[in-house]
Amino acid sequence: MVRLARLREALSVAEGDPELVRSQLQAFGRQIPLLYFILIVNTMAVAVTHLGSAPAWLSIYFPGALCALCVIRCVRWWRIRHRPLTHDKAVPELRKLIWLAGIFAVAFSSWSLLLFPYGSAYEQAQVAFYMATTLVGCVFCLMHLRAAALLLLSIVILSFSTYLVSTRSPVFIAMAIDMTLVGVALAFIIELYYRTFAGVVHAQRELQVSQEKTQRLSDDNFRLASIDSLTDLPNRRSFFASLRALSEQTPAAGGGFNVGLIDLDGFKQVNDIYGHASGDLVLQEVGMRLLALAEPGIFFARLGGDEFGVLAQHKLPNETLVELGERICETLGQPYRVAGNVAELTGTIGWAAFPEAGTTVQQVFERADAALYVGKEGRRGTPVIFSTEHETRIRRSSLVAQELRHADLESELFLEFQPIYDVLTQRTIGMEALGRWHNARLGAVRPEEFIRIAERTDLILRVTEVLLRKALDEASRWPSDLYLSFNLSAIDISTSPRARRLVDIVLGSGVPAHHVNFEITETAVTRDFEQAHCSLTMIKQAGCRVSLDDFGTGYSSLSYVHRLPFDTIKIDRSFMTDVDSNSASKKIVKSVLDLCRNLGLECIVEGLETSSQADVVKALGARALQGYLFGRPMRASAVPAYLQTMLGQGDVVET
Ligand code: C2E
Ligand code: MG
Ligand code: MG
Repeated sequence: MVRLARLREALSVAEGDPELVRSQLQAFGRQIPLLYFILIVNTMAVAVTHLGSAPAWLSIYFPGALCALCVIRCVRWWRIRHRPLTHDKAVPELRKLIWLAGIFAVAFSSWSLLLFPYGSAYEQAQVAFYMATTLVGCVFCLMHLRAAALLLLSIVILSFSTYLVSTRSPVFIAMAIDMTLVGVALAFIIELYYRTFAGVVHAQRELQVSQEKTQRLSDDNFRLASIDSLTDLPNRRSFFASLRALSEQTPAAGGGFNVGLIDLDGFKQVNDIYGHASGDLVLQEVGMRLLALAEPGIFFARLGGDEFGVLAQHKLPNETLVELGERICETLGQPYRVAGNVAELTGTIGWAAFPEAGTTVQQVFERADAALYVGKEGRRGTPVIFSTEHETRIRRSSLVAQELRHADLESELFLEFQPIYDVLTQRTIGMEALGRWHNARLGAVRPEEFIRIAERTDLILRVTEVLLRKALDEASRWPSDLYLSFNLSAIDISTSPRARRLVDIVLGSGVPAHHVNFEITETAVTRDFEQAHCSLTMIKQAGCRVSLDDFGTGYSSLSYVHRLPFDTIKIDRSFMTDVDSNSASKKIVKSVLDLCRNLGLECIVEGLETSSQADVVKALGARALQGYLFGRPMRASAVPAYLQTMLGQGDVVET
């Protein structure tokens, strides 16, 4: 049974092994011309010697037809030799070849057996020789097609040996035995060769599979290492690799490239209000929008968080950069639909050119960052190209940072106080403490400048602490109906221990906690909404009050006002400049005043400089006002005199 199965296997096509079938056909294809060459030459040699002794149909037509068949097959092979075969077509082709080998074996054997009786003993020997050499030649040519080779071998040996034995001639019988033995040996060789061949094919395939696997693995690793998984854009690493590669080529090529840094304004709010899953969706959408803007030579990457990078491989003129930047900003500024809501973001972009702005990748990147920084400060939602003016700003910033780090804050920092006026009682109800810094080298540094620089490092914690102690010290001498308003930075409330420290300073100052009001800007709150909520609640629980400062300048979202425990909202002074002439500003102020009234919040209108502005906001229902009209920021020493001029509010508590 096992032998039968083996025999069947040996005579069949390895259908389940496409690779083997393909290799068999390929290897056999290379032998075809040789196979037909052997057949035609041998056949013609025998036919020619039998021209006189055998009838024409046996010496001319039959062999002629056989040779013509060989030529036809050969021509067909020549025509289709380069055509790739699918596995579905290869299997029937192989089967056809086995059948053809059988048919050819029968045809050629029949011809030689029919020819055998004609001619002399020499000619008979020639036929026997013909059979033997042709058989061996053909078997070797068919070596890769085991089934065809075995079929051919069996047909020829069986038919010829039987015939030779039937002649009863001892020489022919010996020849038949010899042929059979050689045939068996040939069958073994075929089997051995075929197994080796199949083994090589399998080994090659395994090698190929393992190479493909390794390649795929390394491709995957490369992809993972260079692609941002959220947006599918190239990541920071691959962005920098491209910058480095370009910077190395550029000096030789004499060209240059542009680097753009994009930062999303308002992304933090989306994360805070709608959650991180929605934030991720927005980033994906940003990635898709940027990808749609990519063109030959312009690439985008996600550098991390809400920061993206653009690379213009060939340096573009400034007008084109501005135009491209505007297109990017405009695309990013379209509304985003997240979880049934519509989120509004803008993108700001800073450009820097290599090698003009910087001769190393790090330098160009920093310059693009500086341009972005300038954009974010005053020109959000627009492109900014790095210029030397930005460079001066950066230098100044690092100088200020350096001086601030080494300053004796206790003696250099001081405060000015600006009154907050109540129109109803016509009294000053509070004083806002405004930090001032006078440095021996730099002179007076504007609070906006040194506070911003201090905020970039943890220096702000020390600045706040020194200023708060000084402010409380002054406030402890004020009349009991005057409260102190003190500005905080985001970092001051960025952890609970930091917020606790502020509370401890207030509680240890002797100033009643309800006389202390902390002002915090929207941007500070939006940095980490949850922590801001936690810190502000702690401050409130200690008895202090909290105000939302500069309302209207950031991404004024009513949800902040609603969700955080504010007592007061301060409308930013930018609305006051034209509140008496611009109906839009007037409407905004009115709606914020209405909002405060509805939410039961106090509202302070900041930055009133003229009585006409004051009249307008008073008419709109504003009660607490602040601005140069009511008092400029003044030194602590000037406060008692100021209060005295204000309807006898000068009963300063002397300690
Ligand atoms: P702010 O808290 O909104 O303070 C009000 C700013 O507006 C002050 O500027 C003040 O001098 C100015 N101002 C008040 N009334 C008027 C007016 O009628 N017209 C005009 N044009 N300006 C007016 P200042 O002192 O330069 O402070 C700027 C900002 O710096 C402050 O804005 C505040 O955000 C920050 N800041 C000041 N002191 C401190 C501080 O001690 N700590 C922190 N973290 N920030 C502070
Ligand atoms: Mg303030
Ligand atoms: Mg303000």
